Amino acid sequence: MEDWVRDNLETAEKLAKLELCDHCLGRMFGKVGTGMTNDERGRMIREGLKEEGIDIPAPEFCSLCENVFDLMERFSDEVAEKINDVESDNFLVGCRVEPEVIKKEKEIWEEYGLENPESIKTELNREVGKLALPKINRAVEFKQPQVVACVDTRFADVALDIAPIFIAGRYNKLSREIPQTIWPCRVCHGKGCPRCNNTGKMYQTSVQEIIGDIALKMADGEEHFFHGMGREDIDACMLGEGRPFVLEISKPRIRDIDLDELEAEANKSELAKYNSLHFVPRGAVQLYKGSDPDKTYHVKVKAQGKVNKERVIEVSLAFKNVHIDQRTPQRVEHRRADLVRHRTIHWVEAEVTGDDTFELTLKTESGTYVKEFVSGDDGRTNPNFSEALGIPCKVETLDVLAIDYQEQPMRD
Ligand SMILES: [Zn+2]
Ligand SMILES: [Zn+2]
Repeated sequence: MEDWVRDNLETAEKLAKLELCDHCLGRMFGKVGTGMTNDERGRMIREGLKEEGIDIPAPEFCSLCENVFDLMERFSDEVAEKINDVESDNFLVGCRVEPEVIKKEKEIWEEYGLENPESIKTELNREVGKLALPKINRAVEFKQPQVVACVDTRFADVALDIAPIFIAGRYNKLSREIPQTIWPCRVCHGKGCPRCNNTGKMYQTSVQEIIGDIALKMADGEEHFFHGMGREDIDACMLGEGRPFVLEISKPRIRDIDLDELEAEANKSELAKYNSLHFVPRGAVQLYKGSDPDKTYHVKVKAQGKVNKERVIEVSLAFKNVHIDQRTPQRVEHRRADLVRHRTIHWVEAEVTGDDTFELTLKTESGTYVKEFVSGDDGRTNPNFSEALGIPCKVETLDVLAIDYQEQPMRD
């Protein structure tokens, strides 16, 4: 008889009398020793008791697990079938056990003062996983599994939880008529109504949908989500190297999609272009959303009157590392809190293109309202370009030329 059995003989006898199966009996000492399964532990306990003249055979029906362990082979078949239906490098098995059983198990631990029990959930997860492993032929991953098969023990039902894939890249928006992300109809909120021609959307497409719809199909996923590093107004273009973004595809049945193909397909669009696509870990979403890089803009400006070329250039050069106070612009007042933001204009370059028109290229701190910096927004931005020039000016078109962001290597 092994020492641990001998040391626990008294408690083991009481537990065996509770009509526990070998699994459940052994599991009460599940963390004692290694290299054996709980049902092996259970059998060792019964043998130990027998040596002492106490014969308590395993019951037909276990009062704790209700013989759930008889179903493990079936669970593992179900798990393998579901997982083999999707593509992944690894997997994990999880189980949902009836709360009643978990409660009952804990009561036994407490009543008999057990110090090394294992939970039924842990045993089921491990044992079903072990049985499923040869049928699946993928690695088991505990930390960040790509697919989790969750067995509901009551119904022998297996639900798959497939981790999303994240694709980062940069986009150019070449149209002043599409938004960055899907914009649900204001009237029907996506259900479809006469206002939106039953599309459920305010705009027919978006930077998100052009690439997202293609990626979704390739990955055989459920939904796509778009996480941009900030966004531009609908009427603004995003030029240059493009704006960093992360595209998220939920429940992809195919993970390893060809990103060159995705890029090529998406770039057939005239409205938006994409570059530098690569897979990133989930953490990239927070990283991108939390970044607030400086930006370079190009704006076409119309002045309310003739402008003097030298004067425009002089005013531009004067805005070198200038701090401005911006009260929330009137145009966004209805959706943003009214407060004063402090921002820096790093530099401004000007080119006069007509009697009353000129163009500015300017680099600003993240979050600067550029249109309002030029117009002054009725004195809500101070100092501002119009006031410095002495002529009211208005931005006609705005483009983002550059987003000052260097991607750092990311780990899972
Ligand atoms: Zn049992
Ligand atoms: Zn609608």
